[in-house]
Amino acid sequence: MDSDNAHHPAPTKFNTCVFCGGKPLTKTHLWPGWLNDILPRQPNFNQNSSLATGTHLTPEERQTAFQKHKKDIFDQQPYLACYLCNGGWMKEFEDEVVKFVKPVILGTFRGRLDQRQQQMLAGWLSLIIIVSELASFTQKTVSKADIEFLKIQKKPPENWTILATKLNGQTWMKRKQYHSAAIYPGLTLDRLPRTGEGIPKYNTQIATLGIGALLVQVFICPARQIVDRYRSDYAHRLKILWPITPYRRLKFPLSHAWNDQEAEFFAHDFFLKLKEIVHD
Ligand SMILES: [Zn+2]
Repeated sequence: MDSDNAHHPAPTKFNTCVFCGGKPLTKTHLWPGWLNDILPRQPNFNQNSSLATGTHLTPEERQTAFQKHKKDIFDQQPYLACYLCNGGWMKEFEDEVVKFVKPVILGTFRGRLDQRQQQMLAGWLSLIIIVSELASFTQKTVSKADIEFLKIQKKPPENWTILATKLNGQTWMKRKQYHSAAIYPGLTLDRLPRTGEGIPKYNTQIATLGIGALLVQVFICPARQIVDRYRSDYAHRLKILWPITPYRRLKFPLSHAWNDQEAEFFAHDFFLKLKEIVHD
């Protein structure tokens, strides 16, 4: 792994469960093992880049860090959740999703998921995002309140966005690209919330996941106007998996399959726009 930025702390070693504070910890799959049974083994990537940004940041704080992990992300099993969480509410997500998601991932599903299934799919993808961020080198962006919401409500918060499209590519069928940033529109440098080390506190992430024939992007940002812009920027090209409205349930196959090149563009596009927005 190479990193050129000291903003990335070492991966957190947990003593107690990140979700409930319990012990002992058990191995937690970032991705369920059964994905390896239905998707071919191949080199895959878990990419992270972070941007410290705001309305009036110094050049140093604007530097972008980039990390590239060539580990098999489907094999990573950090110790971060306890037996009760792993085998309880986290497994419930898994058990519900596995009932219907394999044809979706294999690209053979036709028709619509019902409301509950689409919600569980959104929740399950969110859980992957949360767990992989907790296990990563990057500053954490997801709040404890949002994690608690997902755990109790079995769905992501309404201000999270998940977009989806069909993927027709080899490289992206097992891939994750993650961007994180500190986005506080209108706040001057001296007003930004900061970590104990004095670094602006990250609150925004864009995580793109390629899982078989499914390409999704999870966008989490507290700034409402930026969330709205994101949703409208992509509305004509991508389906909104979350939040669900009754007339917006996904219909499979999702129209217009994207290739690897388009997936790569999608993984970076809004992050680049985000830089423009906050540097205006
Ligand atoms: Zn726990």
